[in-house]
Amino acid sequence: MGRCKTKDCKTPTVAGMGLCRDCQRKKPIIEEPRLLVFKEKHGERNFYIPDDATLFKAALKVLTDRFKEGYWYYKPEDPPKAPDFTKEQVASMPESMRADATKKLMKHAEAMRYYVREVEDYNDAVKAVNTKDGRLAWQSLRNSSGGEYQGCSLERLESAEPDED
Ligand SMILES: [Zn+2]
Repeated sequence: MGRCKTKDCKTPTVAGMGLCRDCQRKKPIIEEPRLLVFKEKHGERNFYIPDDATLFKAALKVLTDRFKEGYWYYKPEDPPKAPDFTKEQVASMPESMRADATKKLMKHAEAMRYYVREVEDYNDAVKAVNTKDGRLAWQSLRNSSGGEYQGCSLERLESAEPDED
């Protein structure tokens, strides 16, 4: 067990963690200026990001535009259809059918977990746009980075000044 590295904090931390949970959350995302890049269907959108406030503002702008364009976000469809048997019923099935039935139940449970996350992500995105919550917009964009045209990245910028030696 260690102590939080923030001056005057000293909250105990889990081994290997530099900062406690609280300080981790408060820590700025942008510690030096970055280039925020969104790869979209019709090209890239690039933003100069000197600090968190600008990051959240840019995120809200992009997320809002995507909603306006209409084809970026879909309300998740109906939940995956459950198998027509329960876990309890599997136990009383002939043995030759059990493995297959169990597999079907597990597949459904996984699809359900995925579906729940999808709904949560969608709801977060809607909430971010409606309440103009830039921080939530950023989280939402980060969460949906998996999609082909939904990715974004924070690139380092190089100084044009000669290196000090
Ligand atoms: Zn702390």
